[in-house]
Amino acid sequence: MTTKTKVDSVAETRKLLSDCGLRTTAARLAVIHWLKRANSPATHAEIAADMVPLGFDKATVLRNLTDLVEAGLVTRKELGDRVWRFELRDASHPEGCEHAHFICVECGSVTCLHEFEMPKPAMTSVLQVGSVSEILVRGRCKGCQ
Ligand SMILES: [Zn+2]
Ligand SMILES: [Zn+2]
Repeated sequence: MTTKTKVDSVAETRKLLSDCGLRTTAARLAVIHWLKRANSPATHAEIAADMVPLGFDKATVLRNLTDLVEAGLVTRKELGDRVWRFELRDASHPEGCEHAHFICVECGSVTCLHEFEMPKPAMTSVLQVGSVSEILVRGRCKGCQ
């Protein structure tokens, strides 16, 4: 595991939000804490499934996710299956592309490949490559093999 932003207390999350010019709201705190516990990108539906019982409706969850994406605290990815997934941005990587992802072609589960370093010089040496926004590895997860 690399340096996923370690912000455990509400105070630290509050600071993270104010540093990005966002007000701290119960929904934003709940969304960030949910994403901190997740260890792979999650869909709006997965996040909302846990948030709705806490009293946040789906639209509120989506609006707050969007605010956090716009503020740069959360990344939104489409991993080739036309589903948007959200995860906390790795603060140690200012660029949009911080680590690769593995997606299972059978069950659709997504795993973060933190050890997979972006081979930037190798890729930009290919003339057609402008900038890389996502590295995606497809295969079958252990459960589906
Ligand atoms: Zn699978
Ligand atoms: Zn990831």
